[in-house]
Amino acid sequence: MIEYKKYAAEIIESGERIDGEVDLCLIVSKKYGVELTLKQATKLLKLIDSTPKAYDGTKCPNCGSEDINGYEFEVSDCNSAYRNCDCFDCGASWTEDFKIVGFSELTVPEKP
Ligand SMILES: [Zn+2]
Repeated sequence: MIEYKKYAAEIIESGERIDGEVDLCLIVSKKYGVELTLKQATKLLKLIDSTPKAYDGTKCPNCGSEDINGYEFEVSDCNSAYRNCDCFDCGASWTEDFKIVGFSELTVPEKP
């Protein structure tokens, strides 16, 4: 039984750079002593790719350049949104994930 979620979280935490399924198989084998099949590696890689990582929104997560571009926000459901970004320096692209954290400065019009 492969603990995909646990592996994904720990591999993201470790900041390990993964260059495809074969590379991921090596990392998991070294870290956990588990031999993944290619199909399992694909599934784990997808999970890693789709899991939000720590990110402050100012630098490219690949090369660290601040020369990045964010496109328009897209609402994915009523309390979260995302936007696609890319880096002018290295050409990387990624998705920023947003969640509503609250509201402020509520104003209500006076009743006539
Ligand atoms: Zn970059």
